[in-house]
Amino acid sequence: MEHLRLELRLILRTAFHTTGNRRRWGADKALAMSADGRYVIPATTLKGVLRDRAEALLRVWGQPVCTGPMPETMCADLNSLCLACQVFGHPQRPSPLRFQDGHFAGDVGTLIRSGVSISRQRHATLPHRLFFVETTEPGPLTCLAICEGYFPDRAAAYRAAALVALAVRWISAIGGGRTRGLGWLERGEVEPTLNDNRFYKRNPIPQAELEALWRTWSGGSNVAEG
Ligand SMILES: [Zn+2]
Repeated sequence: MEHLRLELRLILRTAFHTTGNRRRWGADKALAMSADGRYVIPATTLKGVLRDRAEALLRVWGQPVCTGPMPETMCADLNSLCLACQVFGHPQRPSPLRFQDGHFAGDVGTLIRSGVSISRQRHATLPHRLFFVETTEPGPLTCLAICEGYFPDRAAAYRAAALVALAVRWISAIGGGRTRGLGWLERGEVEPTLNDNRFYKRNPIPQAELEALWRTWSGGSNVAEG
């Protein structure tokens, strides 16, 4: 077994919002918080946007990818799951990767912003649709997240590392309110490491190994560079 650990670093250039389930006076939508009272990018939000990006890229490259999230339209043959299902999970085959909530580096203040719902069809302001959203302070903000898991062999761990690293590079925005300019990313970075059973230390996965997989998936072009 190989233990893969991915350290994700997202640099946001704008304020961020994901609606949590707590209440805050004066806000219709309060920011998501962890149990220990820190503002977070929830693991489900992170995993969702990474899967979405990964699937979009694989499709562009002509790789077979099923269509979620309805179980009926996802991979039917459990013995030949598509790459997205292998890495991010399938209703009957949970992902080997466990995503943790992303935490913002340092102390992050928050703001209450007002918004107005706009009808996209009529391009008109709907009456009585003023709302208040709690967001983080304006960027730049750094969010750190970890995901890790066990894989049967090194090749499977490399594939997962390469797909997540690829998706992280291609996230342009995360969370709610993107059309209002919230959650836009400057860049995303990943540091993948594997365990070393003999010495109990972690070995970085060379960038060249990830790039080789990207090249294979893209059919030999250099689309993933940058
Ligand atoms: Zn699938």
